[in-house]
Amino acid sequence: MLFSHQIDWHRGAVSSMLQTDAIVHRLGCLKPQSEMHAKEATSAIMRASLRELKSRRREMVRLLGEFVQCESPSYDKALVDRFGEVVQAEWKRRDAKIRVLRQARHGDHMRAEVWLGEGQPKGQIMVLGHIDTVYQAGTLAKMPFRISRGCAWGPGAFDMKAGLVLALFAVDALKALGARPTKRFVFFWNTDEEIGSETSRREIEKEARRSELVLVLEPSLGPEGRLKTARRGVGTAEVIVTGRAAHAGINPREGVNAVHELALQIGRLMKMNDARRGITVQATVIAGGTVSNVVPEHARAEVDIRYTRLADAPGLDRKLHALRPILKGARIEVRGGVNRPPLERTAGGSRLFQHAQSLMREIGVSLGEASTGGGSDGNLTAALGVPTLDGLGAVGDGAHSSREHVVIRTLPERAALLAGLLATL
Ligand SMILES: [Zn+2]
Repeated sequence: MLFSHQIDWHRGAVSSMLQTDAIVHRLGCLKPQSEMHAKEATSAIMRASLRELKSRRREMVRLLGEFVQCESPSYDKALVDRFGEVVQAEWKRRDAKIRVLRQARHGDHMRAEVWLGEGQPKGQIMVLGHIDTVYQAGTLAKMPFRISRGCAWGPGAFDMKAGLVLALFAVDALKALGARPTKRFVFFWNTDEEIGSETSRREIEKEARRSELVLVLEPSLGPEGRLKTARRGVGTAEVIVTGRAAHAGINPREGVNAVHELALQIGRLMKMNDARRGITVQATVIAGGTVSNVVPEHARAEVDIRYTRLADAPGLDRKLHALRPILKGARIEVRGGVNRPPLERTAGGSRLFQHAQSLMREIGVSLGEASTGGGSDGNLTAALGVPTLDGLGAVGDGAHSSREHVVIRTLPERAALLAGLLATL
């Protein structure tokens, strides 16, 4: 655990009291700041942000529509970069200092720095999100952006273009209220989150190390919009089997059946599951063989790995790569392994959650926390010992599916939560 990342909550609360003087005046509260209790100041920020953001709800939905209509599939650099430019333009409009991290293969990542305080910032808050989606180009044709039943629907609306919108409007709200936060904000948007963050991982980790805490705008969980304080670690592997082809009727003994070998290997994979330790290893895609009367020469399986404890990662990797052929003459190759470490519930993370919870209480919203099996880039930053709070994005459902949607009514309160965190941490 890095002590420099520990948060001085008491000092944070007091400094928020001082910074919010301007806001308090705008609210017509004329008590001198020395008499203002930190709690009152926090409450003032939350209520004022919510009021401001509620008045901009339509604009938020309009921008979400623009974002969703600009498709950004992870594997399509041209499309992702086009969307990246749309997002950059929004940040430029807010006077953010933008740095584009050019990439050869995937879309360019971006970093937008915002400093609303006076003098020198006292540290940095990283806000993390991604601009890529899992949807192929052209998905909009059959799944257009639409508003219905109080929700905004469309590919990537929930995961996580609404999160990108929340960030922009949270900054707007802080500006409108004249807040003077003590920390610099760095909004880091990567373009390959949905495919494992291979090209952005190092940059994310570098930025996280420079930050006191990380707020992740991934979708929240459930209709109550719970935050994610624990996530399981993730891995993906591929088991590739090579046997020897032969006529299944005439000379079957000359063959080595790759499908049989793979089936035996899957049996071994199943043995790696350990419910008690929270480890699951599953063959999720299999392929093999050519036609029914030929002993198959090739077979392969894709394997999904989830685990709860960071300490289990090396053992899992070792077991996977220790798989050896069972049938005589068969060869196997294992690619991949554990990738994102788990986001373990730490003291720093849960203090962050409690703070978020208290902010939402000020505007009458009860906020819960949850643990989830899905991984995000928050897993990477948490593994460095930097307090990380995930699931701060929109409320909705159906991520990665044709039912993907965001609950419009909750957009202002979620943006207010982010604004409140940025102003008071
Ligand atoms: Zn996501």
